[in-house]
Amino acid sequence: CGVFGVYAPGEDVAKLTYFGLYALQHRGQESAGIATFEKDGRVHSHKDMGLVSQVFNESLLAKLTGNLGIGHTRYSTTGSSRIVNAQPALVETRLGTLALAHNGNLVNTAELRQELLDRNCNLVTTTDSESIAIAIGLEVDNGKDWLEAAIGAFQKCRGAFSLAIGTPAGMMGVRDPHGIRPLVIGELEGNPSRYVLASETCGLDIIGARYLRDVQPGELVWITDEGLASFQWNREPSRKLCIFEMIYFARPDSVMHDESLYSYRMRLGRQLAEESPADVDIIIGVPDSGIPAAIGFSQATGIRYAEGLIKNRYVGRTFIQPTQTMRESGIRMKLNPLKDVLQGQRVLMVDDSIVRGTTSRKIVQALRDAGATEVHMRISSPPVTHPCFYGIDTDNQDQLIAATQSVEQIEAKIGVDSLAYLSWEGMLKATGEDPTQFCSACFTGDYPIAIGEPLKRSKLM
Ligand code: 5GP
Ligand code: SF4
Ligand code: MG
Repeated sequence: CGVFGVYAPGEDVAKLTYFGLYALQHRGQESAGIATFEKDGRVHSHKDMGLVSQVFNESLLAKLTGNLGIGHTRYSTTGSSRIVNAQPALVETRLGTLALAHNGNLVNTAELRQELLDRNCNLVTTTDSESIAIAIGLEVDNGKDWLEAAIGAFQKCRGAFSLAIGTPAGMMGVRDPHGIRPLVIGELEGNPSRYVLASETCGLDIIGARYLRDVQPGELVWITDEGLASFQWNREPSRKLCIFEMIYFARPDSVMHDESLYSYRMRLGRQLAEESPADVDIIIGVPDSGIPAAIGFSQATGIRYAEGLIKNRYVGRTFIQPTQTMRESGIRMKLNPLKDVLQGQRVLMVDDSIVRGTTSRKIVQALRDAGATEVHMRISSPPVTHPCFYGIDTDNQDQLIAATQSVEQIEAKIGVDSLAYLSWEGMLKATGEDPTQFCSACFTGDYPIAIGEPLKRSKLM
């Protein structure tokens, strides 16, 4: 999911939030929502199924007045794809309304829900996100102030949560103690007390906000008229940023570790070329996520980079659509091969990852139909063998092709002349950061946050 928040008295916060969400659309395409707060605590909100541009229009935005805005784009992990599950989640408390936008996934949702039900809370939706909001509300109703209440509730949450929270008193930005999902802080130029929260820096760029820093793992920032205050709500943070954010999920123009992900992904491609070159005529990338690595591969080998596939940018990511049938039919809608580029060529195609192998198989067939004489595939990350429990919906382990099949078997299944993945060591080398600072469980099964038995059984073989 994408989360966004802006505290900017005197500005059109609904429009700023709208554009922030527009830049974070790639993080979730099922639903979108905005809540705004007036100075007196009144809240306006609008959310619906669909893309940001489908959910909002000028007249709807004009009704969302106030000095604080919280926004969300959703892609479902816990909870089904339905309108009641759209965010921000709104909860009424003793101190007024709370609006919460969540990116990530809790691994103790069942326990948390049960505890809330035992305490007579009324749960409307099926999401872990609503549970977090209600847990905060409960603490407020028990007499705590916003900060104490939020920190009290976070102690009960296990898993991945990057949050933007609006209250009548101010705005919070929060990351779980592992910082699995990203969250950055920006400042609107010219006024130091106007702060922005966004999942990625591309959400700041679009509204002309300057990147200040990341919200740290286990940190809560509290933004009010007085400025920005920081609280380390968890004393034992241990940084475990999702490495798939860098490899695939986040936008290439977003910056992490002082570098665009475009540059990072090119480096993955160069490393891959060093490890697994091939004698071919052209290098192509699978749009959009495989392209930077394909360019890196081409640079390292000196083999010509070409565009062999054209993407219809207006179809959502096939992966994010909830059913297998939709996924299968989504692929041809999305990519079309260029016959005159591919005809008679030995092609090496680079992609960021193989999950189920269904997309890859179809693309390979399409390249052959378009006249490619050989198709070699190179993947700029290691084999995905384990499901994610922290907010990227990689399905059950039995759906992951590399969980059960060898590279040779996958090669045969997707119908390529050769297949190679980036090695684990190569990925670490290109990443250049301390490998202990990342979650890479989908390659190793080494989950940094313990998964409870029932949840484990639901997804692991
Ligand atoms: P497959 O061949 O496994 O069906 O699809 C692989 C493609 O799915 C890659 O191009 C990758 O960019 C894309 N993809 C979509 N969503 C995800 C995701 O959540 N995780 C990963 N690793 N890849 C994804
Ligand atoms: Fe990211 Fe994989 Fe860890 Fe999930 S399991 S947080 S996708 S690295
Ligand atoms: Mg892709």
